[in-house]
Amino acid sequence: MKFLELSIYFSKLELISSRNEMTIILADLLKSLGKDEIKEAMYLMQGRVVPRFIPIEFNFAGKLMQKVLKGFAGDEKIVSDLFEKTGDLGLVAEQIIKTKTKNLSVKEVHVLLNEVALLGGKGSVEEKIKRVAELFSKLDKTEAKFAARILVGNLRLGLSDKTVLDAISWAVAGDKSQRELIERAYSVRSDIGLITEEILKKGVGSVKDFNVEVGLPVASKLVEREKNVKSIFERLGEHIIQPKYDGMRAQIHFLRKGFEISLKAKEQNGFFDGQIEKQTVRIFSRNMESLTDMFPDVADAVAAINVDSLVIDSEVIGYDENTDTFFPFQETSTRRRKYGVKEKVEEIPIKVMAFDLLYLNGKDMTLEKIEKRLSLLEKILKQDKTGKLNFSDSPVVKTEKELAERFAKYIDLGLEGIISKKHGTIYEPGTRNFDWIKLKFTTKSHIADTIDTVVLGYYFGRGTRAKFGFGALLLGIYNRKTDEFESVAKLGTGIKDEDFLKIRPVLEKIKISAKPKNVKVVKFLEPDEWVEPKVVVEVDADEITKSKNHMAAMDKEGRGLSLRFPRMKVFGRDKEVRQATTAEELKKLFQLQKK
Ligand code: ATP
Repeated sequence: MKFLELSIYFSKLELISSRNEMTIILADLLKSLGKDEIKEAMYLMQGRVVPRFIPIEFNFAGKLMQKVLKGFAGDEKIVSDLFEKTGDLGLVAEQIIKTKTKNLSVKEVHVLLNEVALLGGKGSVEEKIKRVAELFSKLDKTEAKFAARILVGNLRLGLSDKTVLDAISWAVAGDKSQRELIERAYSVRSDIGLITEEILKKGVGSVKDFNVEVGLPVASKLVEREKNVKSIFERLGEHIIQPKYDGMRAQIHFLRKGFEISLKAKEQNGFFDGQIEKQTVRIFSRNMESLTDMFPDVADAVAAINVDSLVIDSEVIGYDENTDTFFPFQETSTRRRKYGVKEKVEEIPIKVMAFDLLYLNGKDMTLEKIEKRLSLLEKILKQDKTGKLNFSDSPVVKTEKELAERFAKYIDLGLEGIISKKHGTIYEPGTRNFDWIKLKFTTKSHIADTIDTVVLGYYFGRGTRAKFGFGALLLGIYNRKTDEFESVAKLGTGIKDEDFLKIRPVLEKIKISAKPKNVKVVKFLEPDEWVEPKVVVEVDADEITKSKNHMAAMDKEGRGLSLRFPRMKVFGRDKEVRQATTAEELKKLFQLQKK
């Protein structure tokens, strides 16, 4: 396929808001791809050259793109004026590029972009600009529009994973019938390029028995909620419990012989900086992003264990040696950074609290029972000499009383609550069911859990808050059925002055000029500024109530659910927006509250 054809598909997708239509167009695109360019097209569609979990980024800031475009416009002012007007370098490129297309193929453009992404080290910025300019001299305006957006990390086709998985089913079956099977395969090996290629080449049957593969992130198993100890015990009877640690979820992969990536690209590229040659450890967040660079201390500890390969599910949490206590999530999450990692390793030492084993010495463990997984995990972690790798406390509770006592003990120790785990269960990637149930300690609130909301916009502040540039946030939850974000609360109280200062620049970065198509909010609550749904905020509230003002999980009478007295707990959770609390979950929490 020519890159121009792909760009025309992108133009079509960008204009559509109906998910069904998007699915059909995307399916059509998939069917038109040649067998040897599927992966490349899939990654480009995600605005990348490699799967999301491989940390190869373009690092091509808007300023660099402006430089390239100035070369074509011949005049600096034209570019800056256009950019000022549109705020989108894709649109700027579209207006400035006047050349005719040289008809590069999808694969050729992928190779060129991959080279740009792999450039690093001294002199690489100039080289990147040179190569991007060369690429642009071969593109027409439509191609340049999307190439520019891909390079600056702003493709925004509005394609969720869900739509892509639907489209693969459409492409091979003409309907959504294969969707569940495809989703399962994707949850075991989260590489959209690999899954699509496999299915389009060999049929859906070929991914049916996909196992966990070390190095490729597995979708994290999620948990259900219950209101109290009694209802958990009624449901599970005797079972295993573990403390709920409030850190960052980390899936740790280890392969003694090392993961090799992009060596082909390396050969093509004299400037390769050699950073990502052969890793033995990969660490993924719950969003399947790479955390490997942030936890060199964990990587060292894991590599010292005597196994050939390993995948463990864990919570990484900041730990204060002086007081023998864990840091709150906010502190731990400061380890998440690009620069100054070394300093942070010392400032915020962490502990890995490992609570499951997914893979061991070449074997997928997810189909083994929990008892076996935990006993093997405990045995392996005993080898650790650094004190970094810890086996989560995992006692069995035989009675409701015992469960209540243990829960109280963990709360006394300053932990968030517990996760109850059913005897005899396997590890089902990406699922949320009552095999795992969380119970958190809440004082004032009537809700069994905090709510993970998505920032949809903000209101300017009045009075003392005017100086912060905003006074309140508009928050929404995610509706999985419609792939929309529905407003659930306006949050103004509980934001501290120092938080205002931290939040403001984040909002400024994601500000957009109009309401996104997939955001639902009543007219009079429309915020002063809209933002791209990108940031997840964990909030606590007194109650969930029915309300005509909000559109979350709306009933037939037009009443949605909203949060009473919402209070901010964490701005910027380690979650993707589509992993925020869903309309279905909010409804369940509302029911639980009424119980
Ligand atoms: P929360 O916001 O309450 O931390 P969540 O809604 O983000 O939770 P859930 O799937 O509901 O996500 O809760 C499970 C999360 O709890 C996991 O993603 C993991 O990060 C964390 N966790 C902490 N301790 C454990 C444990 N022992 N077993 C499983 N998950 C644990």
